[in-house]
Amino acid sequence: MTNAKILVAHISENDIDEAIRKVKRVNEKSGPFDLIVVPIQSFDEMVNLNTDDLPQLLLISSDKNSGSKSKKISENVTLLYNFGTYKLTNGITLSYLTYPREILQEQRKIVLNEFSKIDSEVDVLITKEWGLPISEKCTRLSGSEIIDELAKKLQARYHFAFSDEMSFYELEPFKWESGRLSRFLNIPKYGSGKKWAYAFNMSIEDNGKDESEPPNLIANPYISVITDSNKRPLETGTDNLIDASLQLSINGEKNKNKKIRTILPSSCHFCFSNPNLEDHMIISIGKLVYLTTAKGPLSVPKGDMDISGHCLIIPIEHIPKLDPSKNAELAQSILAYESSLVKMNYVKFDMCTIVFEIQSERSIHFHKQVIPIPKYLILKFFSALDRQVHFNNEKFTRNAKLEFQTYDSHSSKEYVDLINKQSVNYLQFTVYETPESHPKIHLATFNADETIDLQFGRRVLAFLLNLPRRVKWNSTTCLQTKQQESTETEKFQKAYKDYDISITES
Ligand SMILES: [Zn+2]
Repeated sequence: MTNAKILVAHISENDIDEAIRKVKRVNEKSGPFDLIVVPIQSFDEMVNLNTDDLPQLLLISSDKNSGSKSKKISENVTLLYNFGTYKLTNGITLSYLTYPREILQEQRKIVLNEFSKIDSEVDVLITKEWGLPISEKCTRLSGSEIIDELAKKLQARYHFAFSDEMSFYELEPFKWESGRLSRFLNIPKYGSGKKWAYAFNMSIEDNGKDESEPPNLIANPYISVITDSNKRPLETGTDNLIDASLQLSINGEKNKNKKIRTILPSSCHFCFSNPNLEDHMIISIGKLVYLTTAKGPLSVPKGDMDISGHCLIIPIEHIPKLDPSKNAELAQSILAYESSLVKMNYVKFDMCTIVFEIQSERSIHFHKQVIPIPKYLILKFFSALDRQVHFNNEKFTRNAKLEFQTYDSHSSKEYVDLINKQSVNYLQFTVYETPESHPKIHLATFNADETIDLQFGRRVLAFLLNLPRRVKWNSTTCLQTKQQESTETEKFQKAYKDYDISITES
């Protein structure tokens, strides 16, 4: 099988000479490449570029006044403007769209019209902007639905974006219904100190369909936005193992063949009667409640804290939802655990704490997520929440619209009245600045038949903590080996020893 060796490098106009010299060195060392693609902000055609000894070079640049055009500026250099599709002599096709978001909106019709003419998939797609679902996946607040349209239509084997000039990002491969695999990357610019050039091999003949399935394949982000039917793979939108099952039940309900999944305690990830319970992660077991470290923790060790500190408070009984009016003892016990953790985080590690939970009759096994937050970030919580709410409500219109109310304590009458209503379903953040002061509670209700973003809590906190790559618990970034999980749990136990209430519980 014939392969093409391709290099994509992001260069800005100011550094072009220096960067091209570097590209030459890369070409000598890791090449020769068959093709070098360079997205560049703007390009002055008069620049005298020394491209001797380089293979075919495509410079992709924008120029608001020139529409779609290409120009050969020397034997081996072609300049491509704004948007279009280019076919190489070896058969490789490349589509490109350099417009930033504002211009994309303006030129939407022209752009979509141009790409609607293409009747097959392309090999490489280069766009300035990211698609929305991927952008959202790593809590970036940019991205364009026009890019989504292109990504879906062209199903490029490699999609490169370059709007984030400072960070390299690579999404795990995903698959289209045709069996074709796609990869998405953001390439930062030369001078960012990050990986600004990316080399890869691509088979020319098989059109990407024979590529064997990589082990890190993820659900296709473009066809798995919280919406349709049973095609949607399990792993998207899951905040936690349990949420995965919850989502199945939500979708199941919506399907025509109305199949509601019931998770029995013997197969519930949080029930002791499940033989596969991950008991190496248990920190403490009380009378009604137990505590575990989180699988694929969101937070990372920071400052004095040598553990992620992300943990789960779980009722021992298999209940989907907490009904404090009926089960006051359990509710109290959960709050007692919550306080003990808030205290440990504050006293031992100088950290504040945020607790996130979903109270839904469609959940499988109720639990709370407890995450330590550095003191300097805690006051930024509300604006982080606000941004994600905006994103949820405006961009993901299929999701339940969220509107958060704030309460000043667990004993606020309004709050107590609300949560004692058996029919109410809600998302809740409890923000503890110190162990002594009353926490602020932010709560948004939803209807049982509405689709909610189960990752919402994690998304808000990942944004607050500036850990965009840690939104998904089951990503390679977050998942730990069993050994790491055990070590984390042991360290947690050691730190928690003096605060553990299971010892004093009667
Ligand atoms: Zn259970």
